[in-house]
Amino acid sequence: MPELPEVEVTLRGIAPQLTGRLITGVAVREPRLRWRVEEAVGCLAGREIRALRRRGKYILLDCGDGHLILHLGMSGSLRILKRGTPPQKHDHFDLQFGELILRLRDPRRFGAVLWTEQPPETHPLLRHLGIEPLARAFDGRRLHALTRGLRSAIKQALMDGSRVVGVGNIYANESLFMAGIHPATRAGRLSLARCIELAAATKKVLREAIRAGGSSLRDFVGSDGKQGYFQQRYLVYGRAGDPCRRCGTPIQRLVQGQRATFYCPSCQR
Ligand SMILES: [Zn+2]
Repeated sequence: MPELPEVEVTLRGIAPQLTGRLITGVAVREPRLRWRVEEAVGCLAGREIRALRRRGKYILLDCGDGHLILHLGMSGSLRILKRGTPPQKHDHFDLQFGELILRLRDPRRFGAVLWTEQPPETHPLLRHLGIEPLARAFDGRRLHALTRGLRSAIKQALMDGSRVVGVGNIYANESLFMAGIHPATRAGRLSLARCIELAAATKKVLREAIRAGGSSLRDFVGSDGKQGYFQQRYLVYGRAGDPCRRCGTPIQRLVQGQRATFYCPSCQR
């Protein structure tokens, strides 16, 4: 599933190709995505992409008088291809830019293609999103403030998109290991010092993932899109029973809010 780093890498892959380009056509081969692709999307030809940016896991294409909001869902990917590249089975949506196409492939159809003429930050899907973890404003102090009074586990608080947006299960596990914090620690009990550690670890883990994906940037341009999402070498995620990379203790697994948690019982307290 594309997480924040994959979405950021996708954005960095496509933005230089599309910024300032004129949309020359739209092809909707399958409108039944997470939400039905509206007819309005079919009328985007003639608009210029002024800028692209990311908010959480949404990619926003600024068309001046409105925004196209793209989400990759569970299995979506975006590629830039040459015009005339035959669509494959799950290639549901194209934006055409003269000789180039931006193509959405989404086998499970949990992705989204939405048009809004309101400021995108006020869109019902984006309105309640929390702070961006890579934003300068997200630091230990902010994390500390965001978790005061919370009885839930810190891992669940970190994954709560209305507080901090886009820290998925993998990166929550990895950040907590890096900060030496047990994932079941009650969020409201975390000291400022530990919040500072955790906020820094979260940024580091996400930045490293983006860097790891940087090497696959070329796959967003011109390839046939067969390439999957980049794999990283995880510290704890998916490593139950394997020795901790720091101390050798077997990594343990537990379930929190129906999501698997992996941690080192020696390094994380
Ligand atoms: Zn350890």
